[in-house]
Amino acid sequence: MKTKVTTQAEQQALTPDQVIEILKQGNEEFVKGKLTVRNNPELIRDAANGQFPMALILSCLDSRVPVEDVFHRYLGDLFVGRVAGNIVNVDFLGSMEFACAASGTKLIMVLGHGDCGAVKHAIKGTELGNVTEMLSKIQSAVKEIRANFDGEQNTNNTKFVDAVAIKNVILNVQKIREQSPILAEMEREGKIKIIGGYYCMETGRVDFFN
Ligand SMILES: [Zn+2]
Repeated sequence: MKTKVTTQAEQQALTPDQVIEILKQGNEEFVKGKLTVRNNPELIRDAANGQFPMALILSCLDSRVPVEDVFHRYLGDLFVGRVAGNIVNVDFLGSMEFACAASGTKLIMVLGHGDCGAVKHAIKGTELGNVTEMLSKIQSAVKEIRANFDGEQNTNNTKFVDAVAIKNVILNVQKIREQSPILAEMEREGKIKIIGGYYCMETGRVDFFN
């Protein structure tokens, strides 16, 4: 039974690659239903002493992607940022810099997923209140895939929707490096890694990529 949260010494001993391995293994356990029994009252008490998360995951809002469970992590293990379409903005960049530079986090992952409503509406060009401005941030991924994709380019084609969603993850990973000199420098020095992930709706499996 899990009763202790990650300590600062444990967090600091981890390399970015080791964190990736922990998340991969945790995802495998999630997929297979091998979840550890958690002692909530003890974990809550232990977590009250402070937090030393090993990774920050920028995920979509989608209710079918419960981030901590997807990686078989729990209290104190992950910073989780969520916004429709898992798009980076200045507030998330600040949060990421805070996590890595001030809190010792070793890994940033932009996590996209299959059957993403935000991606589908970006493809459709939906216009609605503030949604229009939000979806505009996914348009560069739509444009890049449209230019090179053979086959039906609409939301009925799962392969097309997946290609746009994966491109959107890749572009947002690049954006973090381009728009945060602090994080780019930390990555060059080997202190952190910035990667992408893609959650498969049918299997629960996450593909990891740079
Ligand atoms: Zn989504």
